[in-house]
Amino acid sequence: MATDQSVDSVKVRMYRHGFGDCFLLSFFHDQDRVFTMLIDCGIKHNTSSVDVPIEDVIADLTQVLTPEGGNKPHVDVLVATHEHWDHISFFHPTRSPDYFAAFEIGQVWLAWTENPRDKEAVAINSRLRQGAAALHIAAVKLAEAEPAHAGQDSGTARERSATATARASFNKSMDDVLGFYGVTALRKVSQSGIKYKTNGEISGMTQQAIENIVKLGQKGGGIKYFLPGTTVDKQLVPPGVNIFVLGPPKSSLINQSNPRGGHSKETYLGIDNTGLTSFIDGMVKFGAAPGKQTGQDPASPFGDEVGIEPKAAAKESYFKETYFARDEQYRQIEYNWLDIAGQLALQLDGAINNTSLVLAIELAGSGKVLLFPGDAQVGSWLSWHSHEWKVKNGARTETRTAEDLLKNTVLYKVSHHGSHNATVREKGLEMMKHPDLVALIPEKEDSYNGILYEPLMTRLNEMCKGRVLVSADVNHTPEQLMKKRPEGVSVKEWNEFKQNVIVDRVYVEYTVRS
Ligand SMILES: [Zn+2]
Repeated sequence: MATDQSVDSVKVRMYRHGFGDCFLLSFFHDQDRVFTMLIDCGIKHNTSSVDVPIEDVIADLTQVLTPEGGNKPHVDVLVATHEHWDHISFFHPTRSPDYFAAFEIGQVWLAWTENPRDKEAVAINSRLRQGAAALHIAAVKLAEAEPAHAGQDSGTARERSATATARASFNKSMDDVLGFYGVTALRKVSQSGIKYKTNGEISGMTQQAIENIVKLGQKGGGIKYFLPGTTVDKQLVPPGVNIFVLGPPKSSLINQSNPRGGHSKETYLGIDNTGLTSFIDGMVKFGAAPGKQTGQDPASPFGDEVGIEPKAAAKESYFKETYFARDEQYRQIEYNWLDIAGQLALQLDGAINNTSLVLAIELAGSGKVLLFPGDAQVGSWLSWHSHEWKVKNGARTETRTAEDLLKNTVLYKVSHHGSHNATVREKGLEMMKHPDLVALIPEKEDSYNGILYEPLMTRLNEMCKGRVLVSADVNHTPEQLMKKRPEGVSVKEWNEFKQNVIVDRVYVEYTVRS
């Protein structure tokens, strides 16, 4: 219900520290900042920003969030959308200074997929982590295999060079994909390259970052896990604001990363039909057997009786046919590995993106919506359309459909850094018909072989009439954008837009007015 204290504008600050999400939302009534929300804070693994060091981002957050006369920055809600390094790395307690320990956190909001009391969530997460571990072990084994086999490569020089090229490109994409999980840096922790906890869970760095976020919530005002199709309790949001939870789906759609009809498998980690299950199981067991003949590896998640020694692994059918098949051409074996690991990497990546908490933030006065989908991919987008959200407006109960919310979207935080499979066309972007539509893309050039999908960028520019703000890509700078009115936007619209944008070295800020 609109009251005198209703929120009438939201300032959205997109930080420019590199490839990764970090958004500060400040909700205003008049000149008063009445509510703040931080959505994610991370950077792609093994990258750092020269132009905008994270310290500058933290300094800005500290400055904005420290109340007058107060001595500690305070944020009302911290949202962590999903477990990828480029979204939560700066919450890791030891990889960098524990920046957020100095912050007061009102509440932490997470997706149901992070809820330790949700059996389905626990199953999904343990499988995803095993998958990441399997990939990592595969990468290490592949790298180890090289010197032993170097002299065995047969074929012409040209064929050998093709093998080397394939391997280099595999290693590059493996680094990229594992970079999302922050697993690679654990290489030195144990012989198998993964840090194991004594209770048998595989611990990647993103998991440690999430655990630290949970701690911040426990220290502050607690943690909320959200289910799709729900409306956030009015008590938790400022007056004049409704927040709807769109994803992650609590259905098999969580498994769909790519458009139907594509060549990619749609099933969750391809579990029954691609052989990836045995690959994951085999790899994890293989990696758990460090080759020691006596004693228990303290780093192993399994007892000695469970881990498979390489000698025993050689008898298992999967490995017999691949890794240990000496009579096969080494190169064929390698291609086999590259192929299966590549499939797994892509599916794993999409599966984790689909666990993104998706929020639609509505300003009740005008119905305008700010859409923050994290990195949600196709299945999540499609699932939104199976819900209807209830919202109290005075004595009346109103409903919203996904189409309503998309139609009223005036600010779209582009999902998954503008990739090819994370903005759905007909049931997504094409429904965003509001004349004020503006897009924000947190992205940096040359990441993931150019993740920013040009056809999507073209359509975004059409739908937004050129009002597309990109955080850190030298090919699409906001400085350049602001210099000249794009074709298709009227002088009036352009002037309004310019009044609502601040381009700073550290951030780009856009104000949505109700
Ligand atoms: Zn991301």
